Amino acid sequence: MHHITRCAAVAVALLSLLPVSHLGAQNGPRTIVAVFPHGDDEGSVAPVLARYAREGVRVYLIVTTDGAQGGAHTSIPRGPELARVRADETRCAAEALGIQPPILLDFPDAKLGDYTDDPTRLFRLTQEIYQHLQPLSPDALISWGPDGATGHPDHRLTSDIVTQLVRSGAPGIPQHLFYASLPASGMLAINPGRGVPPYLIPQAKYFTVHVPFTEKDFDAARRAMSCHRTQFTEDVVQRVVDAARSEWKGALPLVPFVATDAGTVLLR
Ligand SMILES: [Zn+2]
Repeated sequence: MHHITRCAAVAVALLSLLPVSHLGAQNGPRTIVAVFPHGDDEGSVAPVLARYAREGVRVYLIVTTDGAQGGAHTSIPRGPELARVRADETRCAAEALGIQPPILLDFPDAKLGDYTDDPTRLFRLTQEIYQHLQPLSPDALISWGPDGATGHPDHRLTSDIVTQLVRSGAPGIPQHLFYASLPASGMLAINPGRGVPPYLIPQAKYFTVHVPFTEKDFDAARRAMSCHRTQFTEDVVQRVVDAARSEWKGALPLVPFVATDAGTVLLR
């Protein structure tokens, strides 16, 4: 008996030496983290975030900028007040999707590509994204692709930094990274006047991941999009929902960072 107790004590002592991430990967809930520059970008993958959260996966959303410049559908002036409202809208969206409260990094909106304004900004952002990701011990990551979906510099650079962390082998960062896109029909639904720039959208053959979701997940995505009242009128929400329904047909297409991640799941 005494011997067994001592063995158990040794086992506990050994376990306490293992990194937490190791234990989590084996026994704890799995974790998916989506990293986007703006509250509302998560709409591009929303049904899949809702699905995994519904299935008990810990789903996090990191938003890298404060959203202070995105004032398309509001009389609230651009600046700190709009940033506050958009933070609330993003919290509302996370709740609608059933995911964890969003992690808001508050870098200046529409400024990530402005190197002369602050040459240290991207280095600080890299560090901050890493400092938030590492303790979450993610099993899979989602971001925009290198095209930035719409070409927006904040989109491109947030994707770029997440990819950089994967490629550099930053400890605790998985290689299972998936790139989201907006189909042309989705872009036109959001803003019919803007058009779709050439050579932006990846070819269909690169979307080798198709993650199924249910009607319930799609409903959660719709409610989440409606939270972003400063960004989308209900007309726009309806147009995007219609476009997404016919474009996705119940399975979200993603481009995996590593070709071997092709399939129908984000977690394996
Ligand atoms: Zn955006």
